[in-house]
Amino acid sequence: MRRNRFIYAVGILTIGVVVTLTETGRADPDMAEVRQRMVDDQIAHPRDMRPPVRDQRVLRAMEKVPRHEFVPAEQRPAAYNDRPLPIGHGQTISQPYIVAYMTELLQIDAEHKVLEIGTGSGYQAAVLGELAREVYSIEIVRPLAARAEKTLAELDYDNVQVRAGDGYLGWPEHAPFDRIIVTAAPDHVPQPLIDQLRPGGRMVLPVGEVWRVQELTLVIKREDGKVEQSEVMAVGFVPLTRD
Ligand code: SAH
Repeated sequence: MRRNRFIYAVGILTIGVVVTLTETGRADPDMAEVRQRMVDDQIAHPRDMRPPVRDQRVLRAMEKVPRHEFVPAEQRPAAYNDRPLPIGHGQTISQPYIVAYMTELLQIDAEHKVLEIGTGSGYQAAVLGELAREVYSIEIVRPLAARAEKTLAELDYDNVQVRAGDGYLGWPEHAPFDRIIVTAAPDHVPQPLIDQLRPGGRMVLPVGEVWRVQELTLVIKREDGKVEQSEVMAVGFVPLTRD
């Protein structure tokens, strides 16, 4: 009788272990399902008043780039939440929605050369790397630039180059750029960036006073060189600092 009970207990235990292992195996090691949900719920169908992102190429890129690989280990469980996260040195990785929205505004095609100012974690650069031919990204905090470069190399983003420096000045050696994105806020549109934008090009950047709400600004350089500027949304970015 005792022996039977023992066998019964071992049996139950074994079933428990097998079920647990199967569940773990079914877990989402690449977090693809969570990422898919992030795109559906936060970006393609935001529940609030934010305009949905509709560009299918942008949505596919957001589904592909593993955001959790770009945040510090302790932030990984929150990697697909609808908010910015700290990445060290007082800086943040932007909210997924705003990354997608700014990328959509740029209208990137597969032949484009893109400049990013404010590499941070390298996440936005990876999204750009999915869409463009070449991406150049500048980060003023040297250790962040080094870490982003490493993450991007580990994930095989061979078309993304990172350098440490002051992005206000752009990257003249690789200019002109078809598209420019700035992910830290200056209080005016930097003239060197306008100069390095190809005629027919677009630039997206937050513009505003330090630690105030800023205006996400779209700059279009027409084929004749004339520059048009429009404000599209209120946003909150860290300030663009200078060396
Ligand atoms: N795009 C980033 C998030 C940007 S946070 C990502 O995907 O993770 C803004 C970044 O801009 C910060 O890392 C900050 O250090 C950087 N930054 C601020 N001023 C800068 C400047 N003048 N040149 C280059 N980077 C700058």
